[in-house]
Amino acid sequence: MKIAVCVKQVPDSWAEKKMSGGVLDRASIDAVLNDLDEYAVEEALRIVEANSPTKEAGEGSGHTITLISMGPDRATEAIRKALSMGADDAIHICDGALAGSDALATSLVLSKAISDGGFDLVICGTESTDARMSVVPAMLAERLGWAQLTFAGSVAVDPSASKVSIARSTEFGIENMEADFPAVISVIEKINEPRYPSFKGIMAAKKKVITVKTLADIAISADQVGSSASWSTVKDAVLRPARSAGIKVEDGGDGGAKLVDYLAEKRVV
Ligand SMILES: Cc1cc2nc3c(=O)[nH]c(=O)nc-3n(C[C@H](O)[C@H](O)[C@H](O)COP(=O)(O)OP(=O)(O)OC[C@H]3O[C@@H](n4cnc5c(N)ncnc54)[C@H](O)[C@@H]3O)c2cc1C
Repeated sequence: MKIAVCVKQVPDSWAEKKMSGGVLDRASIDAVLNDLDEYAVEEALRIVEANSPTKEAGEGSGHTITLISMGPDRATEAIRKALSMGADDAIHICDGALAGSDALATSLVLSKAISDGGFDLVICGTESTDARMSVVPAMLAERLGWAQLTFAGSVAVDPSASKVSIARSTEFGIENMEADFPAVISVIEKINEPRYPSFKGIMAAKKKVITVKTLADIAISADQVGSSASWSTVKDAVLRPARSAGIKVEDGGDGGAKLVDYLAEKRVV
C-alpha cells in the first residue's frame, strides 16, 4: 500500500494572535503540526503495522507513508515532527505565489501533488485548528475523482481486496461506509491516541527525504492560486473581546432559581 497523509503547519492555538490587513499575521506566531493531523499520521502508521510482517512502515514492509504538505519554508518543522512519528518521506509544496490561497486553491495544489504518486489511500485530519473549514478532504476527493470516507471514527483496510471501510458516528447512529482503493479518508480525534516521537524516531527523521516542489513542478500556474484566484475573501476580522468578569451568584437558598432565571434570559432553557 502507498499511503499519503496530508499534514499542515498551523499557528499554535495557545499563542497570542496578531492581525495584519484583515488576515492573521502567521509569521509572528509559533507554528506547530496541526493537532488533528497527528491522528491522521497515527492512523496511517497503525494501518501499516496491522498489515505488515515487520510492523514498521518503509522498505521491507511493502507499505509506505508519504506526507504531503503545502506551506511556507518553515512548514518543514511540522513535516519533521510527523516524520519522527514514523512516516517515510514527504512532499512539501512551497511557492511564494501560494500566499492567500483559500480552500479551493489548497485542494487543487494537494490534488496535483497526490495525483501522480500512485497512492492507494490519502488520510487527512478532519479540520485544521486555524481555518477550521473542514472541507479540504472532500474537495480533494472530488478533484481526484476518488471515494471520500470522511469523519472516520475507525478505519479498517483490506489491502488484498484493495478495500477500505470506516465507521462514522452521526446524530442518527453509526454509519458504515466502504470503498475500493483509491480513497480519501478524514479522521476525527477520537480515532486513536497519537504516539510521541521516540528519540530514535527524531534522529531518523533528520535523514528522511523531504522533496520540495514548486507550483511549476506540479504543473499549476501562479494565477490558479493565491488571493487573486481565491473564491473567498476575508472582508473583516476582529480580535476576540477580552474576557469579562462574569456573574457571581450568592446562594442564599435561591441559587437554583437564579441560575434558571439566568439560563432563561440567555434562552438556553
Ligand atoms: C481569503 C483567504 C486567504 C487565506 N490566506 C492564507 C494564507 O496566506 N496562508 C495560509 O496559511 N492560509 C491562508 N488561508 C487559510 C487557508 O485557505 C486554509 O488553511 C486552507 O484553505 C485549508 O482550509 P482549512 O485549513 O480550514 O482546512 P480543513 O479543511 O479544515 O483541513 C482538513 C485537513 O486537510 C488537510 N490540509 C488542509 N490544508 C492543508 C495544507 N496546506 N497542507 C496539507 N494538508 C492540508 C489536513 O489534513 C487537514 O487536517 C486563507 C483563507 C482564505 C479564505
